[in-house]
Amino acid sequence: MFSQLQNSFQKVFKDLRGQGKISESNIQEALREVRVALLDADVNIKVVRQFIAQVKEKAMGQDVLQSLTPGQQFIKIVDEELTALMGQTHTKLHLSNTPPTVVMMCGLQGSGKTTTAGKLAASYKKQGRKVMLAGADIYRPAAVEQIRTVAEQVGVDVYAPGTHMSPVDICNEAKRLAEGRQVDLLILDTAGRLHIDDELMQELVQIKESATPDEILFVADAMTGQEAVNVASSFDERLSLSGVILTKMDSDARGGAALSIRAVLGKPIKYIGSGEKLDALEPFHPDRVASRILG
Ligand code: GDP
Repeated sequence: MFSQLQNSFQKVFKDLRGQGKISESNIQEALREVRVALLDADVNIKVVRQFIAQVKEKAMGQDVLQSLTPGQQFIKIVDEELTALMGQTHTKLHLSNTPPTVVMMCGLQGSGKTTTAGKLAASYKKQGRKVMLAGADIYRPAAVEQIRTVAEQVGVDVYAPGTHMSPVDICNEAKRLAEGRQVDLLILDTAGRLHIDDELMQELVQIKESATPDEILFVADAMTGQEAVNVASSFDERLSLSGVILTKMDSDARGGAALSIRAVLGKPIKYIGSGEKLDALEPFHPDRVASRILG
């Protein structure tokens, strides 16, 4: 996770750290290297431009240049700006005052929706909440099987009647059942496609309108970098997402999606997936991630 950026930043900061005096041209040079490191990590170019401008504005002030530890001050500014870029603080799931809280998962096929639905279920079950999963992917019988298996592994209720009901009806019925069973959290696992298509979007809009979810989470494969950001933007236009979960962060050395998506979409990353197992889900803390990147 972020290993490429960690290496690049380590090189940039090696000379700056511990320096008693640095000049404007030292800072210009460091900024240039930070810029290259971010672009190499596949961060969105507009995001990089804005980021560098912000850091520059803060770093060029005399209070930085004339401080006793200018190198450290510069690194601190980069740390603060990285944290701000990723959303500053952790954004929790919005839990409804009148349970069940309904969470709708959406995203492309293979992004990790079903696995992540299971991970979320496991995490909330561990907190003592009653969780139910609903399988609304009626196009692939394997998907119905998968959500049932995941629910069994986690040990939560599941409503996945198969391929004969419409996705909207499945979600509505799941909500009705969840209300009756005093479920705290209902997670709707919707269908994905290999690419965005209008039919899928219409289906998701219908589910949103009839099941009125409290959260609409876009699940994106972090390894797809800027493509994940573009697809997220298309989903956001149609569905007005409430947040993002980035999966496969364990396999993503670059981190371009993680560093761009908040700035491009204006929506928070709420969780990251860090492995295939059902406990490999971490709340996303921008400050901790920034510190991790800067080493
Ligand atoms: P869906 O089609 O969006 O429902 O995707 P799946 O949940 O079936 O996941 C697709 C593949 O990605 C599966 O092999 C998962 O085990 C894998 N996967 C999901 N999340 C993660 C993650 O955070 N890390 C890794 N390494 N693999 C993941």
